[in-house]
Amino acid sequence: MSDLRVRFAPSPTGYLHIGGARTALFNYLLAKKEQGTFVLRIEDTDIERSTQESVDAILDAMSWLGLSCDEGPFYQTERFDLYRQKVQQLLDEGKAYPCYCTAEELDAKREEATKEGRKPKYDGTCRNLSGQSDAPHVVRFKLPDPDGEIGFVDRIKGAITVRNEELDDLIIQRTDGTPTYNLVVVIDDAEMGINLVIRGDDHINNTPRQIHLYRALGYEVPQFAHVPMILGDDKTRLSKRHGATSVMAYQEQGLLPEALINYLVRLGWSYGDEEIFSLDELVEKFSIDAVGRSAGVFNPDKLLWLNSHYIKTSDPAALAKLLLPFLTRQGIDPSGGPDLIAVIQGLQERSSTLVQMAEGAAFYYADQPEFNDKAAAKFLIEDNRTLFGELKSALEACSSYDEANLESALNSVIEKLGLKFGKVAQPLRAALTGGAPSPGIYELLEVLGQQRVVNRIDNALNRLN
Ligand code: GLU
Repeated sequence: MSDLRVRFAPSPTGYLHIGGARTALFNYLLAKKEQGTFVLRIEDTDIERSTQESVDAILDAMSWLGLSCDEGPFYQTERFDLYRQKVQQLLDEGKAYPCYCTAEELDAKREEATKEGRKPKYDGTCRNLSGQSDAPHVVRFKLPDPDGEIGFVDRIKGAITVRNEELDDLIIQRTDGTPTYNLVVVIDDAEMGINLVIRGDDHINNTPRQIHLYRALGYEVPQFAHVPMILGDDKTRLSKRHGATSVMAYQEQGLLPEALINYLVRLGWSYGDEEIFSLDELVEKFSIDAVGRSAGVFNPDKLLWLNSHYIKTSDPAALAKLLLPFLTRQGIDPSGGPDLIAVIQGLQERSSTLVQMAEGAAFYYADQPEFNDKAAAKFLIEDNRTLFGELKSALEACSSYDEANLESALNSVIEKLGLKFGKVAQPLRAALTGGAPSPGIYELLEVLGQQRVVNRIDNALNRLN
């Protein structure tokens, strides 16, 4: 066990998106690698925008990805007493002050500042008020040392320094008494002993403010690692315009969690030119210092490529479990049909998602295959009557459906009719599949089994025109 403590701190105001999942993954991997502790904290202080539905969606997505935490989930709404206490401490020590400026006043000042070309920043009206009032107010943090500067060394971005005059007297408690993000994130990270904060670089501007708060509250400042954002192929920030951004949308599209994990980790981190990493390998090889500084570009084709790889190499029995809901969704009931494992083995090579695999399984489990137009026009023709008749007799007579027997059955037809192999196998394949992509003919015959094969040839014979 090391003393590394990291955390993932999502706000439950929507589903878990790709960027959040990658942040969670980096935290998880580092904790596993260093045998540290991965804490999950739900940042639900924005009561209006936080929903239980989002909490569930985030937890579901993390569990689907296998990103289990060692501590938590903790909920900030259960910690309001602590936050109030800390606000009081800052007020008592003169490090924070009540601010009675109304929203209208602040808006007017902001507008004025913008007009005069100044940075719209709180002007400190209430900074040095004496006496207390019951009037509605927020609490602001009194930024120390306005002439000084504040710096930190980010583990990914390097040294960053900001002049304090760039910063504002932050609101740490709203008029309704609820605390704000910058305050609670500091209190919680400190109280939970987090010593490395890995998060999206959309928060990098908050970090100097937060460091001031750490110091004011007498806490040790953790290290920071701000992960670059993910861009779409047009180099703008990844959004719905670029396709699905929700982790669970990828589950619905039939991705395997291993593929998404592998994809996400490579979006910002590299290890030579290796592309494929199992979770165990990632735990061994991942390092935060090898995360690049520049944004990763989301590439759906590469994600699909990785998914095909994981489908190809997965254990068919494990795939069967994952495939069942996709079959059900397409109205396919595999019970009583050909052996699902055998069907999956035939589809692994040619499916890049579980949705595709379920589509590919359809003809196996249909009463009779649905012919596509091309197959129907090409093979369901009167000219094939003799061929289908011979195939039916030969395959009916074939005592055991293994490759050797099936081969001699087909050869007998080939010889009898003086046809090439393809001229026999193609119509047969069409009769069995309706023209859907399928594995080799012997495997197909074996998996379907004698009764279904004969039945399907009969069906083709009945449909000749
Ligand atoms: N709750 C914040 C968010 O979801 C993250 C805060 C942090 O990681 O510091 O954006």
